Order: sequence, then structure tokens, then C-alpha cells
Amino acid sequence: MLGSTGSVGVNTLNVLGRHPERYRVYALTASERVVELAQQCRQFTPRYAVILNEKKAAELKRRLCLDGLDTEVLSGLSGLCQVASDSRVDTVMAAIIGAAGLRPTLAAVRAGKKVLLANKESLVMAGPVFMQALVASKAQLLPIDSEHNAIFQCLPYPCGSLDEAGVEKLLLTGSGGPFRTWQIDELEWVTPDQACAHPNWSMGRKISVDSATMMNKGLELIEACYLFHAPAEQIEVLVHPQSIVHSMVQYCDGSLLAQLGNPDMRTPIAHALAFPGRMKSGVRGLDLLAQGRLDFEAPDPERFPCLRLARAAIKSGNSVPTALNAANEVAVAAFLNGELAFTQISTIIERVVSRAKVFELTDLDVVEQVDSNARLLAAQELTRITNEVN
Ligand code: NAD
Ligand code: MG
Repeated sequence: MLGSTGSVGVNTLNVLGRHPERYRVYALTASERVVELAQQCRQFTPRYAVILNEKKAAELKRRLCLDGLDTEVLSGLSGLCQVASDSRVDTVMAAIIGAAGLRPTLAAVRAGKKVLLANKESLVMAGPVFMQALVASKAQLLPIDSEHNAIFQCLPYPCGSLDEAGVEKLLLTGSGGPFRTWQIDELEWVTPDQACAHPNWSMGRKISVDSATMMNKGLELIEACYLFHAPAEQIEVLVHPQSIVHSMVQYCDGSLLAQLGNPDMRTPIAHALAFPGRMKSGVRGLDLLAQGRLDFEAPDPERFPCLRLARAAIKSGNSVPTALNAANEVAVAAFLNGELAFTQISTIIERVVSRAKVFELTDLDVVEQVDSNARLLAAQELTRITNEVN
């Protein structure tokens, strides 16, 4: 469990806790939150607990020792990569947030694990390297992102090319976030808490802001291109405010297959864990009569410029999505810190993407170089914007 203390992590442990006879948790990991991690260790008694922050390892050890647990404590990136590739592990939930998830997730892929991928940023920033590693190791990649999990469920398995499967297009749905109906000139004044108050999903703060800008859908568009070997033109984004239809596949015979369900991450998590079987997730079935209606609309390009930037990035390919992702992470962190207006998130991303040099993504070093360069450019743009305002 990479990122066990996060939103996806907690939901995953909730599902696992319902099936103690089926699963043993081998390792739990967190960035900083020692108290939560120790509490999870008490409940799931893993062999290892990994804390990224090396300074907090001693505190974690002390807590586990007081509880009489023989869980071993590891720390740092090396600890994360070690448990993700341990030979006694068969399944890895990749639920770290952002670019930080890349190395550990890739370690799991290279070790040939069944990888449950929530950490979309690792695929967005390193798509070609990631997919090459997947082919070489024969790891199994199952999407946890609810949209991709829905598309996966609507495609034949195994699925060769989309053309052979008779797929015309993939339809990615997104709620449109909390500001879908706001006046556009009000968006400048949006606060972090308003942006994090998603109407249908309860998620971590970074992805909640991504949902509000719809960059989340942009990242998911890129994620879908890699996961399903689809050109961006074959993927359409639809705003669906109720978040009940999680995504759809349009076939050439006129059939449109959709996966529906209450918006609760435990459904895709249970699906991927039990695949190709099914098991209970704790999510109640959808009551269509109570639901009443399902609406769809085209995303407003003026309100959601990030969607256009993401589509342009994957069309350009190479390292452009890597730079886009890095710039977005810096801009979102600055917004959450109160240093940047909501509407300037896309400004920073656009400027960084236009300034970043483009490279072919041949290996992880290139990916990390592009990522850190783009972060530097984003920091410069952030300073420039702050000076412009003052
Ligand atoms: P979160 O912020 O709630 O949790 C992140 C987890 O990663 C925590 O356990 C944290 O300790 C760990 N972490 C943070 N920084 C780290 C670092 N530098 N190194 C190692 N570990 C670190 O995030 P989340 O909302 O659970 O999202 C996790 C991933 O799943 C993201 O990639 C997100 O895009 C994706 N996702 C989330 C949801 C959702 O409902 N939350 C839905 C779809 C996809
Ligand atoms: Mg999603």
C-alpha cells in the first residue's frame, strides 16, 4: 500500500478490512503522518511500515514498539521502492499523490507485480518509459481512477487494439467540479477550501483542486491515451454533474457501454483487487429511481483552459505532458498556500509548457530532468506573477 494514509489509501484499507480471509497487508507507507500510519499498523499488522520522512522513523518505531508490534520500520524513497518490489508481494496499490509516486510505482511495475494504479501523475509524466517497463516485466496494470476503471470494465479483456475491438471512441466523464455554474469573473477570488469542496467526491486536496480546474480530466485524458493506446482524438470529455456514469465506450455498431455507480472509490478499488472476479466493497447499489436524472454537457473551454492545455500536451507528446504535470503541481501547491489566484494556475502551466525544452522520454533520468526543469520554470513564473500583481 503506497500512500496508505491518503484518501485512496484509507478507502483501500476499508475494502481490505472487509476481506481479512483474502488479503494480508505486507507494507503500509506514508509521507509524514506517523500517528495515522501507526494506527493502521495496529489494525493490519504489516511486515513493514515505511515513512518517507527519515526524521520521523524513530517516532514511528517508538509507537509500534509501545504497541508490541514487530512491524519493521523503513524510511525514505529507498524504503518505498524496496517494499514495492519485494518478492513476497503480489499486489501493489500505487496511491501516492503526484510525481513523488513515480519511482516506487515504477519499482512495482519493473518487479512484475499486479499494480493497481491510482497515481495517474506517474503515468502522465513518464508514459513511454512506464509503458515500456510494463511490457518488459509483464506486470499487470489495473486502473483505479474511476473513469479508467469504468472504461476498462466496458472493454473486452484482454483488449488488443481499440480498432480491433470495434471501439469508436472513449468518453471520459467529469463532474465539472464546484465552480461549473459560477460566473467566470468570480473564479479569481476562489479560496482553497472552496476549491477542495468537491460536490460528489471526497478526495485529497491536490486532486480536488485539479478537479475544480478540470486539469484532473486533462491528466486523465493523457492517462487514458497511455493505458488504452488511444490517440487523444479518440477520447472525448463530457461534463456529467452527478458523477454516476463513470465513463463510457462507444462501439462502431452504435452501442454505448457505460459503468454506473455511486461515486465511491471503494468500487473501482474492489473491482481491481478482485479482478477478474468480484467482491463486496461496502458501496451500496445505485438506486436509479432515487437518482432521477443524469445530465451531460460539453466542457466550457473558457472556464476550463487546463483541459485545452492537457489535450495540446499529449498531442505534442514526448516530454510536454511531463512539463505540464510538473507546472500543475507547483501551481496547485502555490494556490493551496494562498500565493496564487485560482485562475492563474492555468497561466503558469501555459507559460511553463511554452518555455520548456522538449525531449524524447528515453529513460527515467530524462523524465526527472524535465520534471525538475519545469518546476524551476514554474517557480520563476510564480515570482513573475506575484511581482505583476504587486
Ligand atoms: P492524498 O493526498 O489523500 O494521499 C496521498 C498519500 O501519499 C498519503 O498517504 C501521503 O502520505 C503519501 N505521500 C504524499 N507525498 C508523498 C511523497 N513525497 N512520498 C511518498 N508518499 C507521499 O491523495 P489521494 O487523493 O489519495 O490521491 C492519491 C492518488 O490517487 C493521486 O495520484 C490521485 O490523483 C489519485 N486518485 C485519487 C482519487 C481520490 O478519490 N482521492 C481518485 C482517483 C485518483
Ligand atoms: Mg478520476
